Amino acid sequence: LVALKSVNKHFGALHVLQDIDLTIARGEVVVVIGPSGSGKSTLCRTINRLETIDSGEILIDGKPLPQEGKELARLRADVGMVFQSFNLFAHKTVLENVMLGQIKVRKADKQVAEEKARTLLDRVGVGTQADKYPAQLSGGQQQRVAIARALAMDPKVILFDEPTSALDPEMINEVLEVMQQLARDGMTMVVVTHEMGFARSAANRVVFMADGRIVEEAAPEQFFSNPRSDRAKDFLSKIL
Ligand code: ATP
Ligand code: MG
Repeated sequence: LVALKSVNKHFGALHVLQDIDLTIARGEVVVVIGPSGSGKSTLCRTINRLETIDSGEILIDGKPLPQEGKELARLRADVGMVFQSFNLFAHKTVLENVMLGQIKVRKADKQVAEEKARTLLDRVGVGTQADKYPAQLSGGQQQRVAIARALAMDPKVILFDEPTSALDPEMINEVLEVMQQLARDGMTMVVVTHEMGFARSAANRVVFMADGRIVEEAAPEQFFSNPRSDRAKDFLSKIL
């Protein structure tokens, strides 16, 4: 569903993504871990074309990433993104946040969009908050709204970049549970996270990055019990 082929990207002299080859199958949950600065966020952003690449190829559903315009807007709708900082529209209600993309990008009828938004908000457990503004919600609730907003576009894949790292500890689980449920429902997901419990229980595959490279790729059981590279061993010894 998503294929990166020899992807390279520089920020000036920094070679932030080095020959990245990564294939994500439909329904697969891939957890990306690695030290700070290793390029995890940049990887997510290139898949969504929030960042351009210098060489290589990114295919979504077999098609190359469009450069701009309507095609790009459609692609962005196919590739949902959930950020650490929620990124909800502050001056729109929760309901409006989940309706907006459906109407603007998917050209959905207002009533249809509202019905779908309410269903999704119920599904992530914030249905009763629909008429509030983001600032009136807890961080965990805001992040669940952000997930509902991503889902409202019927994305082919959702990218999560550290979705729980800005949350107070007691709110982390409510967000991870929604993500676990999505994984069980067969959503294709790329998840950058430090939540190793989530990686163990929900991931089909762990991708370990360091210094802009994919150093290791393995099933979670294998990666956590028997990492092959010294970089991964060192990283795991610090976080586990
Ligand atoms: P973290 O775990 O801290 O979120 P990360 O693995 O997500 O780290 P990235 O955010 O992808 O890392 O950053 C990789 C490197 O690229 C870092 O050294 C960072 O400083 C640099 N970088 C990221 N964005 C830019 C930018 N827009 N311009 C210049 N350098 C950047
Ligand atoms: Mg990051």
